[in-house]
Amino acid sequence: MPQIRPPHILFELIMTKRCNLRCDYCPLRFEERSMSKEVMDLTIRFIRENRSFFEKFSINFFGGEPLLEFENIKYFLSETRKLDLDYSLGTNGLLLDKKKLLFLNEHEVRTFLTLDHASGAKTGRLAEVLKGEDLSLLTVNLVIAPQYLDRYPAFIKEARDWGVRNFTLLPLCSISMGWDGPSLEKLRSLVGLMRKESRKEEYALHKCTFEMDYSGLNEYVIDWDGRVFADFRTISWLFKQSALVSPGLRKEVDRASYVGRIGSIGLDQLLEGHKPGLLEENSRILMRRLLKEGSVQELTDLLEPVAKFS
Ligand code: SF4
Repeated sequence: MPQIRPPHILFELIMTKRCNLRCDYCPLRFEERSMSKEVMDLTIRFIRENRSFFEKFSINFFGGEPLLEFENIKYFLSETRKLDLDYSLGTNGLLLDKKKLLFLNEHEVRTFLTLDHASGAKTGRLAEVLKGEDLSLLTVNLVIAPQYLDRYPAFIKEARDWGVRNFTLLPLCSISMGWDGPSLEKLRSLVGLMRKESRKEEYALHKCTFEMDYSGLNEYVIDWDGRVFADFRTISWLFKQSALVSPGLRKEVDRASYVGRIGSIGLDQLLEGHKPGLLEENSRILMRRLLKEGSVQELTDLLEPVAKFS
């Protein structure tokens, strides 16, 4: 057994590569693929056998759009309910309804609902779904593009009227989105407004950043087909999934982060497969190729002070 017991492990389950939306910034390569019951069972078995090794074990249901596989999520939750896991799910909200929200609340699944500049069409329906419900486990992820910044204050107000009290600010900085002086200034005002509001009321504001502290957290992606990758959240997810990245480069990152197949790997192999140095280096190389470094630095600096409201 490994000598050091990491306190926290996170499995990000790619429930499907399908999505019922086509966001203009989405880097995903869509495929008609979803996680099978067999892969879920192997994952559950791994968790059951190794649960006691970790203080905290988190599961994030992800995709594509994970609510397209809601029955599978229900199955996974029912099979693991005695294992003391910490659950979360990221969704575009199109398939969210009161029944699902209630179910997710009952199973203590923290839900991250993404809204962006094009979400106008879904907000009317979401108001119906969310109003009057317990939203303490719900966070609205605000995906912000520089050219649409003016829309967000009204958007935030609307979400607050629904009862939302948790927001994550996600400026689209992972691809070159054209942030410039004036748009950064607007973003600064928005951050200021949210900080002011968060003092007045009880809602949290999280930051988007490129450098996160992952000490103590071992994070793995369990792909729909059971392949396991050591991961650095969005950064390597973006690189691995992205249509923006050349196939050769993607393979490089895959190779660097590939651990094995669920069902065939043991805990030792899993932990050994976490190669932060290598992943960080790959991330840096890819970041340099993909991003306008000036904008990235400015955004990171700008959002840094927001951390204390998290
Ligand atoms: S909802 Fe998510 S997965 Fe679907 S298209 Fe938009 S960004 Fe991509």
